[in-house]
Amino acid sequence: MILKIQINKNNPILRKKTEPVAEITGEILNLIKDMKETMAKDNGVGLSANQIGKSIRLFIISPELSKKQVFINPKIIKLSKKTETMEEGCLSLPDIFIPIERAKSLKIKASDEKGKEFKLKAKDLLARAIQHETDHLNGILICDNAK
Ligand code: ZN
Repeated sequence: MILKIQINKNNPILRKKTEPVAEITGEILNLIKDMKETMAKDNGVGLSANQIGKSIRLFIISPELSKKQVFINPKIIKLSKKTETMEEGCLSLPDIFIPIERAKSLKIKASDEKGKEFKLKAKDLLARAIQHETDHLNGILICDNAK
């Protein structure tokens, strides 16, 4: 099922810090499936749960960028000092592209859809997408970090 993406930078659901996922229920698994369909339809590289109206710590990343696609209760554990600035867009801010400075590489830990914890090293576009989605879970949008 294609879900409705929340747009508008002042939307409260996009501005609220999300809550940890306590348990991976059937409902969560369905949500992940729907989020994947929704992201693919809009050619997104990532999508966070609050973008489709669920204020929980979960995001997905496109299979084109990452072998691991589902990040539940993610935590970035290391960010490189080296940064890179690139234009970024966001499915919640249609037609807006803003240059954003991000760490070039990072290390993250999260649980997958089976509840198994994993650690992942990411660089370049994948690292950028992970930082973008992590910002979403904390209520931060790209229009906030514009320099
Ligand atoms: Zn976004």
